[in-house]
Amino acid sequence: MSFHPLSFFICTKKTEVRIGFGFDVHQLKEGRPFRLGGIEIVHPKGAEGHSDADVLIHAICDALLGAANLGDIGKHFPDTSNEFKNIDSKILLKRVCKLLKKNNFSIGNIDSTICLEKPKIAAYIPSMVKTLTDVMEIEPNNLSIKATTNEKLGFIGREEGVACYAVALIK
Ligand SMILES: [Zn+2]
Repeated sequence: MSFHPLSFFICTKKTEVRIGFGFDVHQLKEGRPFRLGGIEIVHPKGAEGHSDADVLIHAICDALLGAANLGDIGKHFPDTSNEFKNIDSKILLKRVCKLLKKNNFSIGNIDSTICLEKPKIAAYIPSMVKTLTDVMEIEPNNLSIKATTNEKLGFIGREEGVACYAVALIK
């Protein structure tokens, strides 16, 4: 059996994968609702920001946009716009997914790490995965959410803020 030399080229072209990286940080303030991974965390402090300040969703949005080379979350949803004041970040994630689709990309898998001193969020992770994979219309197996403390060091260790890193593969 012989292959036309072009068939390999066409095949690799079809399965091109691209990688993107996202990072986000928000301050934690007393009395704010704590939205994280599309759900509400029970805690005396919550993340502060122009939108609902969901660091995990924002990091994922930036990773997806970065993979597609479509700029960043601030470009698409500026914090100077009233449209995005207190907006549910799941709406932003949905819009990012639509933008990717429009540019002929589909999501491969996403890995993320939330850096937070308190509270412990392990018990919330299955619910975050279900919520976010429903929004992105991907299999739960394609979203990994991990959590770590900052060993009491720095602003995260002092419980002044929460940060998140995410990487995404798109096809
Ligand atoms: Zn953010």
